[in-house]
Amino acid sequence: MTRPLPIIEPFRIKSVEPLRMTTHAERVELVRAAHGNLFLLAAEDVLIDLLTDSGTGAMSSEQWAAIMRADESYAGARSYYRFEASVHEIFGLEHVIPTHQGRAAEHLLFQTLTGPGDVVPNNTHFDTTRANVEATGATALDLPCAESHDMESDFPFKGDMDLPALERCLAEHAGHVPLVMVTITNNAGGGQPVSLACLRAVRALCDQAGVPLYIDACRFAENAYLIRRREPDQRGRPIKDIVHDMFALADGCTMSAKKEGMANIGGFLAVREPELARELRARLVVTEGFPTYGGMAGRDLEAVAQGLREVLDEAYQEYRHASIRYVVEHLDAAGIPVVLPAGGHAIFLDAGRFLPHLGWRQYPGQALAIELYLEGGIRSCEIGSLMRNARDERTGEELPAPQELVRLAIPRRTYTKSQMDYVIEIVRRVFERRDEVRGVEIESGPEVLRHFSAHFRRVDVRAPAPSA
Ligand SMILES: *Cc1c(COP(=O)(O)O)cnc(C)c1O
Repeated sequence: MTRPLPIIEPFRIKSVEPLRMTTHAERVELVRAAHGNLFLLAAEDVLIDLLTDSGTGAMSSEQWAAIMRADESYAGARSYYRFEASVHEIFGLEHVIPTHQGRAAEHLLFQTLTGPGDVVPNNTHFDTTRANVEATGATALDLPCAESHDMESDFPFKGDMDLPALERCLAEHAGHVPLVMVTITNNAGGGQPVSLACLRAVRALCDQAGVPLYIDACRFAENAYLIRRREPDQRGRPIKDIVHDMFALADGCTMSAKKEGMANIGGFLAVREPELARELRARLVVTEGFPTYGGMAGRDLEAVAQGLREVLDEAYQEYRHASIRYVVEHLDAAGIPVVLPAGGHAIFLDAGRFLPHLGWRQYPGQALAIELYLEGGIRSCEIGSLMRNARDERTGEELPAPQELVRLAIPRRTYTKSQMDYVIEIVRRVFERRDEVRGVEIESGPEVLRHFSAHFRRVDVRAPAPSA
C-alpha cells in the first residue's frame, strides 16, 4: 500500500523576520493599554498575527524582481500595461482601473452607480462595501442562503446567495436596483465559497431584470479551487478555466489586490461598458490618480501583475487549502465550535457556542479574541454584533448579528505548520477554561466602522455555577 504524501508548502524561505515573544503579564498590561481593542496593539507585541489576510502575505522572489523592473512613468508606464494584460488574461474584463486598494474601487463604483432610494443586494456585504453603498444613501441588502446560518451543516457552498430572495428583491425594487453584487468567497459570511451554479442563476435573474452583475473578486482563486473540489460537474478542471467561466458572467468586478493579488497594497475595478469606464476614470483622476497608475506606484502594479498569476498556481492553492483544513479539522476534533466546512482564507470560531454564557450584548467574539491574545499572543478579529453594528431603522436600537464569529485569517505563504500547531494548542487552552471568560461592553467608539477604534470594558458575566 502506498501512503499519500503530505501536501507541503510549495516554496522555501529566503528571507525571515523574527517574532517577539511576550509574557502573560506583559500581555495583560498591553490589552489594558489598548482598551481591549486588538486593532490598537502595536504589531510588534503580537506573536502570530491572524488579524487579517489583507496585505500581510509574503511576496515571491519573482514579485520582488518585478518590483525592480518597474516603470514609474506618470503616463503610459510599461508596468501598467503588464498589470492590464494580467487582468485581461485572467478576468476577461476590458476596462481596467487601478486603485490603491479594494475600497477605493468600491467608492468609485458606488459613487457612480448608486444613490438615495437604491437597493444593492449582495450575498453578504463586506464591511467596507456596506459603508460605501450606504455613503451614497442606498441600502445594502444581505441575501445569504439559508445554509449560511447553520454552523454545523456541511453544505459545500454556504457563500451562495438566497436566489428566491434575490428574485423577490428585484421585483419589489424594480428600477431601484442599479447592480447586484456577489462576494467570492463570502468573507463576512465565514469565507465560504459561491458555486458556479449559483453565479449562473444570479446572472439569469439579473438578465430577466435588466440589472448588471458585479463580483467582489477579492478571493477569486480560492473560490474557484473550492468550486473544483466541491461542485460535482467541475471536478478536475484547471482553476484558471473556472475563473474564466465565473467572470464571463459578470459585467465588472472590484478587487483588493491585498488578498489574492498576493501584494501588500493595491486593487482595481474592471468593467465591460466603455461609457461607464469613461465616467469611472473621470472620478479616478480626482481621487486616486492618472488612469495608468490610479492609486498605485509602478512597483505595486508589477507586484500585483505577477501575484495574480501566482495565485492561480495549482500547487499553491492545494497547500493553501490544506493548511486551513488542517487547523479546522484539529479544532473540530477537539470539540471546539468552528464553522464547517473549512472556508478559503480563515478559520472561523463560533464564539456564540464557544462562550454560551455570554449574550450578544457582551460581544462574545471580542471577548474570545482578547482571550486568544492573552493566552498566546495570537491576534484575531471579531466578526459579529460588534463589527456588524446593525440598528433597527425605526427605534435606532442595536440588533444582534446572525452569528458571533472570531476570524483567524491566515496570511498567504507566511506561517509554517508548526506555527499552526501552536495556534491550535492556544485555542484549546482557552476552550478548556472557557467558563471563566468575561464579556465586554463598549466604553466609547464612533458609529461607522466602530470595531477599528472602539474602547472596551470587561464585564463580569460568568457562567452560572453548576447546580448541585
Ligand atoms: C478586503 C475586502 C474588501 C476591501 O478591500 P481593501 O483592500 O481592504 O480596501 C472588499 N471586499 C472584501 C470581500 C474584502 O475581503
